[in-house]
Amino acid sequence: MRNLGNTDIKIKRVGFGGIPIQRITQEETNIVIDELESQGINFIDTARGYTVSEEYIGNALQGRRGKFYIATKSMSRDYESMKKDIEISLSNLKTDYIDLYQIHNIKPVEYDTIFDDDKAYKALLEAKEEGKIKNIGITSHSLEVIEKIVEGDKFATIQFPYNIVEDQADAVFRKAHKKGIGTITMKPLAGGAIDDGALAIKYILSKEYIDVAIPGMNNVKEVQENVSVLQDLNLTPKDNEKIEKIRKELNGNFCRRCEYCLPCPNNVNIPQNFLMEGYFTRYNLKEWALERYESLGDGKATSCTECGLCEEKCPYNLPIRKMLKNVCEKLEVNK
Ligand code: SF4
Ligand code: SF4
Repeated sequence: MRNLGNTDIKIKRVGFGGIPIQRITQEETNIVIDELESQGINFIDTARGYTVSEEYIGNALQGRRGKFYIATKSMSRDYESMKKDIEISLSNLKTDYIDLYQIHNIKPVEYDTIFDDDKAYKALLEAKEEGKIKNIGITSHSLEVIEKIVEGDKFATIQFPYNIVEDQADAVFRKAHKKGIGTITMKPLAGGAIDDGALAIKYILSKEYIDVAIPGMNNVKEVQENVSVLQDLNLTPKDNEKIEKIRKELNGNFCRRCEYCLPCPNNVNIPQNFLMEGYFTRYNLKEWALERYESLGDGKATSCTECGLCEEKCPYNLPIRKMLKNVCEKLEVNK
């Protein structure tokens, strides 16, 4: 157990990521939450954007709200819509307070404006004063953004991808931890690209400066496997060998979402295309992934004219054009 940064949220270091709730029923959600309770997992992270996730979790927590800390998040960027989203989350989660409310997936161009008078941060501050939310956090996929966040003092927690093949935020997480900002790591299995879940979580939690990993779990077995990792967080030589093997295998075809390849002259949102393809093929969230892929509009892989500019900028030398063709093959034929 440890506190999430300087907050009074005291949690087990394995938390629960609410994305997969979308592919199970209310009854199955209840069973997973029962298991979380019996294993002492007390941190649940969900989002307004995960369709039924908040609602199912809220129903499952009836009568035992006090045993869990709830984090959720909203994509709203302006004052009014954030205010509305907080109310919807409270109603979905059937509670009168949310322990951590996060601004969801903030991008570099958006960051400086969210503190303006008509923007989201003000609504969060007001909700905090009213006791509707206890802490304000933020999530992002941009290193540039979380570097700025950690320089400042506006957020109690940061949430960023971190796993065996995506450790670009290592220094930022260390700095955040030192400052008392809670460190939450998303995508522990690199969006499903890493098979060995226990090793993936052990790797993350072997880092003292990471407060919590939040793997998605949709059955009792997964909860039990993930929580068992906490028995021993020391990486053995065998673990390190496996970690190196995973890195080698994924090197060369795994996008770390660093965005160095952007902008594309045709506005292809390269990392989002790969992310949605991963959700579609490896994460069994087909409908959700397709919907998000479609919402990319001109940023879809179909806009690529194969000019090759992005490949010159990718520090991991990814064959982006070939990978975008694969996105089209998987997501365009399944429309
Ligand atoms: S190869 Fe495609 S994705 Fe890459 S910069 Fe050119 S048009 Fe954009
Ligand atoms: S394709 Fe390469 S440069 Fe672009 S986001 Fe992925 S890893 Fe970064």
